[in-house]
Amino acid sequence: MDLRETAAEKRFRDEVRGFVQSKLPHDIRDKVLNFQSLEKNDIVRWHRILNAQGWGAPAWPKEYGGTGWTPLQRHIFDEECFLGGAPRYYSHVNMIGPVLQRFGTAAQKARFLPKIITMEEWWCQGYSEPGAGSDLASLNTRAERSGDKYIVNGQKIWTSYAHYADWMFCLVRTSATGKPQEGISFLLIDMKTPGITVRPIVGLNGGGDLNEVFFDNVEVPVGNLVHEENKGWSVAKYLLGFERAGHSFVGLCKLLLRRLKETAAAEKKHGKPLIDDPCFRHRIAQVEMNVLAHEWTLLRVLSLESARQAPGPVFSVLKVRGSELLQELSELLMECAGPYALPYLPAALSAGWQGELPCPLRVHMLAAHYFDRRSMTIRGGTTEVQKNIIAGMILGL
Ligand SMILES: Cc1cc2nc3c(=O)[nH]c(=O)nc-3n(C[C@H](O)[C@H](O)[C@H](O)COP(=O)(O)OP(=O)(O)OC[C@H]3O[C@@H](n4cnc5c(N)ncnc54)[C@H](O)[C@@H]3O)c2cc1C
Repeated sequence: MDLRETAAEKRFRDEVRGFVQSKLPHDIRDKVLNFQSLEKNDIVRWHRILNAQGWGAPAWPKEYGGTGWTPLQRHIFDEECFLGGAPRYYSHVNMIGPVLQRFGTAAQKARFLPKIITMEEWWCQGYSEPGAGSDLASLNTRAERSGDKYIVNGQKIWTSYAHYADWMFCLVRTSATGKPQEGISFLLIDMKTPGITVRPIVGLNGGGDLNEVFFDNVEVPVGNLVHEENKGWSVAKYLLGFERAGHSFVGLCKLLLRRLKETAAAEKKHGKPLIDDPCFRHRIAQVEMNVLAHEWTLLRVLSLESARQAPGPVFSVLKVRGSELLQELSELLMECAGPYALPYLPAALSAGWQGELPCPLRVHMLAAHYFDRRSMTIRGGTTEVQKNIIAGMILGL
């Protein structure tokens, strides 16, 4: 297996790199590279620039406005976006998009897909509930049929960006008989419907991207059911496959590795750059080798996918390793910055404050970044659960 890029792939990489360098607004790039939080408008603005270029949904088939790129091209695209400091928020495009293409009715495809690719409508994922995270099939939010509507009651939790969302794709219980998986349905819920309350959860990083969502007699038209009633579990699993496939984080690891080297070169220990300290240098070299090994694993998986041999649960291996590496890199960055990592001034900076900072700009949000990375081994399926999947794959359990 030859994992080197072909001449055509190198040209493609140069094209994407040039595009990101010339078209990404500098204010957005600076926020990403300085670990500042992004506003909804930052993400939408960049997405629309990509979409105008025909790159709004790299993984979609061409018939729905996708690019028709190979998996390797999509990886190159992702990596160049990360390295160029571009936001990478694709959850709804990469999750609900493929689900509607596979399971949606003609009316659902026509209604929703065009506004997903332009980001005119923002989606959130209503899967987890208190008491139903890893054990998702035990979810309890009920949807009872009443004429041409479902009446939804219950609660979701950890719903990323629900406060931005126009729509939620939501798992609900439509039957309490039989196996728990057999009574679940997949609904599309308009977040403006009366009876929905969104409450923020402030995370360890100080940010408010997470929410609780409450449903109190929320009326949802039956036409918003995807696939068949009580067959939502197969839709849910199909979507999770797409979610995990996006979680190798190779591009983000490379960006953090570059930031680590820059920060270690700028910060001093006993008057000398930290990067010249043999012990610290050894640790950077070690993590760099691990990132390289991780990248090669991803390339091997992508080459299998190109050859149409579905990689399936191997994405769990990539998710576990990628999230561990992100945590390791964020720990090393914290060590580089020491006490400079602690100042936290997001409100002042987002308001455009230009005054002096108590520490270099490149490290001032590091503690928040470090705390945010703790969630990588939980969100999208915990490491323990991924290891169960990997064990099942190897041992045939
Ligand atoms: C930042 C962030 C964003 C998120 N965004 C969303 C979102 O947008 N939409 C959404 O629906 N959900 C979202 N989630 C929720 C996420 O999917 C769940 O947190 C995750 O599935 C774990 O569920 P839980 O929190 O209920 O933990 P639990 O399932 O209660 O797990 C607790 C502990 O037990 C372990 N454990 C559980 N079962 C097993 C097992 N069978 N074998 C071994 N160990 C086990 C887990 O690994 C974990 O360590 C988000 C979570 C985070 C942290």
